[in-house]
Amino acid sequence: MLTDIKSLTREELEAQFKAWGEPAYRVAQLLDWLYARRAASWEAMSNLPKTLRAKLAENFSLQVLELARKQGSPDTTQKFLWQLADGAFIESVLIPANPALYGEASDRHTLCISTQVGCAYGCRFCASGLDGWKRNLGVHEIVEQILAVERWNEIEIKAEGGKRKAEMSGVEEARLQPSAPDSRLVDNLVVMGMGEPLANYDNLIKALKILNAPWGGGIGARRMTISTSGLAPQIRKLAVEPMQFRLAISLHGATDEVRNRIMPVNKKYPLHELVGACEDYQKVKGRMITLEYILIAGINDSLEQTRPLAALAKRLYAKVNLIPYNKVEGLPWVRPADEVCERFVAALEKNDVTATLRREKGGDIDAACGQLRLKTERELKNAGG
Ligand code: SAH
Ligand code: SF4
Repeated sequence: MLTDIKSLTREELEAQFKAWGEPAYRVAQLLDWLYARRAASWEAMSNLPKTLRAKLAENFSLQVLELARKQGSPDTTQKFLWQLADGAFIESVLIPANPALYGEASDRHTLCISTQVGCAYGCRFCASGLDGWKRNLGVHEIVEQILAVERWNEIEIKAEGGKRKAEMSGVEEARLQPSAPDSRLVDNLVVMGMGEPLANYDNLIKALKILNAPWGGGIGARRMTISTSGLAPQIRKLAVEPMQFRLAISLHGATDEVRNRIMPVNKKYPLHELVGACEDYQKVKGRMITLEYILIAGINDSLEQTRPLAALAKRLYAKVNLIPYNKVEGLPWVRPADEVCERFVAALEKNDVTATLRREKGGDIDAACGQLRLKTERELKNAGG
């Protein structure tokens, strides 16, 4: 298997081009094709000499995510199911900053990306872990999610303008017509898709570096949020990375008793260890942590829980993001009534904690991660595939 071109940094490419005796400006041209114009084939890179393109093709792959399924429309939350080169499926979810309430187009978009195929952590409420863990995503497969979504967005805009040729599939079209440069659609990244990002640490950090670099994605590190179920040692490692990512902790329980019931990872890293790591992170980085708390009826939604939760949030100078549970087919959990959620957030606020209650965007299209993949894989299995 060839190394994929989108798993290399500029420095690595420069070393390779030097070894080949190619001038340095060719690297800049290549990077422009890859990240500004999202080229999907070597042939599209028309200002690179044919001999160089042949050498690149011989030594590197240029993998493009193939769209398997899509839900939602451009002015709402859109969910993309991608098929990888080995046939595995992953998801990315595109969320406009202001879903077009008044029919206007939103120019700011958050993309939620995956880091693994499946997940090994098996949180009881989550679709991503239901069928276990298959593999880590490579650097290029993390990076490609942004580019692939943007490629599709352009195709859709063109289709609306009636310019799309009916006989071409979108990817074929993208292969022939790379994007115009400087039209980044995604300006905010959340690593909250399928998988546990900190369990694929090295690939994640390298991918985020590429997405952050001015020659790559150009997305500010402060606009990248990494979410973890609580891998304490990796949180400490993240604290000493030079880049200023945002950190979100999937807490979902403010006591070991609650957390142990729904998150097996808590047996390995119980709250005192997780909170210790978060405290260190907060001290080193001086950045605010977000505590994610899914509200699940009868599990973690009693007002009693707001007291230890508020104590934790204050200790960590963290804000709390409450998310009413999104139903997963085949799992028994349900979200609490709206009044229960409102009371919960009010109790936290009364305790001087900054808390927000997310009124789900995209809940109607299975936006909670892992659900579209699970559904598709089960459908394929049932169809004998
Ligand atoms: N593995 C990482 C990142 C991916 S999960 C983590 O757990 O943080 C992204 C977020 O979605 C997590 O906070 C997760 O707990 C939450 N989540 C999973 N299933 C959900 C569901 N059915 N409804 C609402 N949120 C869910
Ligand atoms: Fe994995 Fe996160 Fe889902 Fe837990 S919540 S199973 S860690 S993806």
